[in-house]
This record gives sequence, structure tokens and C-alpha cells, in this order.
Amino acid sequence: MQHHSAYGHLDADCFYVSAERVRDSYLRGKPVGVLGNQGACVIAKSYEMKAAGVKTGTPIWDAIRLCPAGVYLKRDFRWYEVLSRLMHDAVREFSPAVEFYSIDEFFFRVTTHRGLSLQGTAEAMRDHILQTIGVPVTVGIARTKTLAKLVSDTAKPFGAFALLDRDAESTLLGRTPVTEVSGIAAARAARLEPYGIRTCLDLARADRLLVRSLMTRAGEALWYELNGDPVIPLLTERPPHKTLSRGGSLGGVTTDPNRLWAWVVRNLERLVEELDWHQAAAGELTVYLMHWDGSEGSERTVFASPTRRFDLLVGAARPCFERAWQPGRGVSRIHIFATKLRRPGYVQMGLFDPPDGQALSVAAAKRAVNDAVGRFALRSGATLPLTDVYRDGAQGYDICDIRGKICF
Ligand SMILES: [Mg+2]
Repeated sequence: MQHHSAYGHLDADCFYVSAERVRDSYLRGKPVGVLGNQGACVIAKSYEMKAAGVKTGTPIWDAIRLCPAGVYLKRDFRWYEVLSRLMHDAVREFSPAVEFYSIDEFFFRVTTHRGLSLQGTAEAMRDHILQTIGVPVTVGIARTKTLAKLVSDTAKPFGAFALLDRDAESTLLGRTPVTEVSGIAAARAARLEPYGIRTCLDLARADRLLVRSLMTRAGEALWYELNGDPVIPLLTERPPHKTLSRGGSLGGVTTDPNRLWAWVVRNLERLVEELDWHQAAAGELTVYLMHWDGSEGSERTVFASPTRRFDLLVGAARPCFERAWQPGRGVSRIHIFATKLRRPGYVQMGLFDPPDGQALSVAAAKRAVNDAVGRFALRSGATLPLTDVYRDGAQGYDICDIRGKICF
């Protein structure tokens, strides 16, 4: 039997915990919790810890009470991203069309592997990723992306399941509440309830136009997908960022202009790292700050030609900072935003873009030293008032942006 289109969904099993186990086999089989938010709560837990009653979001003090034998670790998103990229490459070995859906989830077009059945292909992918990367995953294959995700969600953990038989499909839909479909949260489900639509099968069997009137075109697309019509496209290229930003809380309130400017420069150096990584140039730069009383200041510069050069960005940030800040007033947060981003090939060199060989080689030398010696080993002298911040190793990595994907 030939399947003209089949889609797969691959999802790592408790990814952050599995990632920690890859580099430390001591953690295998033990209850493990990964902490976020400055170590205050559990953002991922192993099945052993889940069995003890610890949930995602449980504060650490409650988790320790529920699971005193647990091993609690601080998250390391850089490592998780390394494994995510390896997983992506591994999925690409099986499929030419792969969508990076989140740090540990991929959709892909299914092509049968070396003469294997679809079921055999799902198993081969799962086993290959465990053997080569060490991360346990679950693979679901079905007629559409939406169905494939439902299949893998129900096959967890370490499952591999190709579901194409229509009767089996209906059985699965019949026992799955509509809230299990990503895109149907409680509010939407409440709108379906009066029409007797509770399970995915109810939804698939409902009148399409009714579904559209209740849940707009996005809901209608889900209706088609649940009926086996693949209408949601596979996005094999990551959508480019519209904005990149760096910043956050200063960990206190300060009125010292030198310290505040140091925070601006620190965040700008972090932002330049991101711009370099994405090969993007900023068309606009915004300096945003929040005063201790909640009042905000925000100022923007538009560049005649987009840039990611630190010297040009810092020159533009200074007057923005001076206009945004009300001197004497304590500041608690600072963010720097790069917007109107341009990619290579789309950047027109302006007449006024100074071809400054010296600035470019200084930037290249700074990057090379920091790559070799450590992040921020070489940094702007304007950041000297923040020596205490740079000394704290925990400040050396970024909390919530997995390059290219916000994870929560
Ligand atoms: Mg997962």
C-alpha cells in the first residue's frame, strides 16, 4: 500500500532531563529535576520524579519535600541546544523535509527508510537517535501533522507508532479530548462543548462550517487535519526573526549613570552576539528602561543602512539612553531591541556606511578572543562598573532564548 503523504512527529522524552543524562550517566534511573527561574522551580522532571508528585512549575522547596531523594540541577540551555541540533541532523538523515518545531520536537515528511514499512521507519528513527545521541524520543507517523502529534503524544515514552489505518485512527480520536490538540485550549474547548464536541472524533465529525464559525480558519484547518487532509504546511525553514533583544532585570535599583550605561553596553554586546549568530543587521535600535516606580522610557534610532557593528550601535545607543532615562530616578530593568532586521543579500550598502577596516578587525579580534578564552573575556571598557556581575558565573549564559526559539 502506498501512502502519498505521511507526516511524522518526533518528540524527545523529558528532554532537559534526558540531556543531562547524556553527559552524566549517574543520573540514569534516578529522580531528576531541572530547575529554572534562578533555581526557584522545577521546569522539567524525570518520570521517576513525576511519580513522586513533582510537576512542572513546582517550587523547589515543595519538590524537595515531595521527592527528597531527587537530584536537582540548574538548566543549561546551551547544552540542550547542542543536542537539539544533533537531533535535527539525525532526523534529516531520514527525511529531506524537516520542520524545527521546538527545541525537542520536529515534524517531517515521511519517506520510508531502506525498504522498511512506516512502522519500521518510526522504530528505526527512534532507535538511531538513542544509539547515536543518547536521547530517548517518541516518533508518531500519520496522515497529517496534527494526527502525527496526537499519535506521538499517546505513544510516550520511547514509543514508535505509525497509525494509518482509518479504524484505528477513529479509535484514537474517540478517546482523545479536543484539548489535547495543540491550538485548542480550554477557552476554545468551552465554545465547542455546547455542540457536544468533546473528543477529537466529535470535532472531526462535526460540520466544517460550524467549526469555522466557532474557531475561525485556524479551527477549520484542524478539522481538515483531523480528517486526514494535510493542510497545515511543513515549515522547513525557520521563520526569520523580526526582533532580537537582550536585557532584563538589573537585580536591584540603581541611579548611578555609569552603572546604567554599563548595563546598556553589556546588553548591547550580548545583542551583537545574537546578530552575528543570525547574520542579521539592525535597521533600528531601541533602548528601553523601566524605573523603580514602573514608569518607562524608550528611545529609538533608525539607521540609514542596517548594521550589526558594535561601534556604530553603541554610538547610536548613547543618545537613546540619555533621552530615555530621567536622571536621578532609579532604574530596575534595561532592554535593547534590534528591529527592522536585514539578512545578507538584503542589506544595501549605504553611501554613508563607513567602510571602517579598523572597526571591523577590532570586532573580529574580540570575537576570536572570546570564542577561544571565554565569553566576555574581552569586552567594552564601559562595562567596568559591572565587575561584580561578570564575576558571577551564572550571569554568563542567557536564560530564555534558545537560539531561534523562545522556549517558555
Ligand atoms: Mg518533549
